[in-house]
Amino acid sequence: MTQQQKRILALNAFEGGAALDSDVADLVRRRQATFGASSVLFYRQPLHIVKAETCYIHTADGRRYLDLYNNVPSVGHCHPRVVAAVSAQLAEFNTHSRYLYDNIHDYAERLLATFPAGLSNIVFTCTGSESNDLALRLARMASGASGFVVTRTAYHGNTAAVTDVSPSSAIAGGLAPHVRAVAAPGRAAHGDNIAMGFAQAVSAAIKDLNDSGYGFAGLLVDSIFSSDGVFSDPAGFLGPAVQVAKDAGGLFIADEVQPGFGRTGGGMWGFARHGVMPDVVTMGKPMGNGYPIAGTVTRPDLLARLCDSYGYFNTFGATPAAAAAGLATLQVLQEEGLIEHAGRVGSYLKQGLAELRGSLPGIGEVRGTGLYLGLDIVDPDDGETPDGAGASSLINALKEEGVLIGAAGPYGHTLKIRPPLCLQASDADRFIDALIRIGKKG
Ligand code: PMP
Repeated sequence: MTQQQKRILALNAFEGGAALDSDVADLVRRRQATFGASSVLFYRQPLHIVKAETCYIHTADGRRYLDLYNNVPSVGHCHPRVVAAVSAQLAEFNTHSRYLYDNIHDYAERLLATFPAGLSNIVFTCTGSESNDLALRLARMASGASGFVVTRTAYHGNTAAVTDVSPSSAIAGGLAPHVRAVAAPGRAAHGDNIAMGFAQAVSAAIKDLNDSGYGFAGLLVDSIFSSDGVFSDPAGFLGPAVQVAKDAGGLFIADEVQPGFGRTGGGMWGFARHGVMPDVVTMGKPMGNGYPIAGTVTRPDLLARLCDSYGYFNTFGATPAAAAAGLATLQVLQEEGLIEHAGRVGSYLKQGLAELRGSLPGIGEVRGTGLYLGLDIVDPDDGETPDGAGASSLINALKEEGVLIGAAGPYGHTLKIRPPLCLQASDADRFIDALIRIGKKG
């Protein structure tokens, strides 16, 4: 049984070796020649995609796949309303944000209305990484300190500063000196009182940062703990840790790149599930249904503090085209009732997956909420030991069954389920039937 720790980009990665269809082989060759060492592809047989709609992706060989992995096209692949809004804006005008135009304000006001009072300023960026990079700067300016506490398998993005707070990206060398990592809030690490166990771990990490001279700038967490393996219960478990962070003079930064925009099924934002009030909220991926738009929401005083010392301008943040994408995505999310829908279909799917435990070998615990679920793949003999190799085989077998899915967790043994929010109950059944068919084949 393999129980090897895995880097996030190594999960379900194409490693070569298998015979490939000729069109795929040709594209892989061209890609490797130009992208070099940074090329990362999924699957033993990479997919050559030609089109997509709702929760489905079509490939050049005429196959159709159920996409359970993709939280970027959050309201559905190629949603006609988003496509129309972006196309119309691009045909009209597009520019950077040092001019006035209407749609960015319609969007900013509508989006900020979904936040608690006090979080009333937004800086538009293009990626989650930029949003988190800015959040780190806000926390440093506010606290005068440089130390951060994150979770052990967290991923927060790709800038130099953000890579430092993303333990799941480290290949060698371990953590940056100003960063402390604590186990994500699960029972295995923190016992039955997850909230208190997590708060104690955060408190010890803050003490260590203070003792080492870095001081404490902030606690940064993905509020669904996606790359840690998906942890959502019991609701409220973040409360004591956030209090510890604030009492210690740091900011609480909620990274909503994964859970945000309704995915958890109980409201717009993952942090709300835990009844906590962030100082900074970062967002990205699902925000423009595939168009690159992201943002950092914060209090006016924190933003002013940073902007007193440094200007902030982002050429492609807040363009009219980005605003069109964001506004149309938010309208669809709200007007098609997709948050409530994610809650309903997510519960149905979670229940179906929970019922597989015990009847199918290797199926472990299911966690999560709404349409963000994690399913552990474990050693069939003891029903417990994480089985990263088993998860990897299952991911490839699911692909053969026409289902796309990813992995998470320190050993890559948790199936990460986060489809577009328009997933139907019949799609959930399709996934469960595929798992049963694969399980029966052994
Ligand atoms: N935060 C989290 C929790 C993420 O999962 C990601 C991307 N996977 C990021 C930040 C970075 O977002 P981006 O890739 O848009 O820079």
